[in-house]
Amino acid sequence: MRASQFCDVTCPSCFEIFSVTAPAPSETPTEWDYDCEVCCRPMLIRFNLDDDEVVADTEEAW
Ligand SMILES: [Zn+2]
Repeated sequence: MRASQFCDVTCPSCFEIFSVTAPAPSETPTEWDYDCEVCCRPMLIRFNLDDDEVVADTEEAW
């Protein structure tokens, strides 16, 4: 089993990029409510598995 992976996500509000600890591949697909680490606005992060890599997609939470 691989060590935990990081995903770069782009905030849909301020468009800054930051890294989050990705969930285990066995836990995908999943969605997280997450507050941007830069502007603190809430967003939704969707994690999916793409060829054994966990990839993240973001969208505004409202
Ligand atoms: Zn932000």
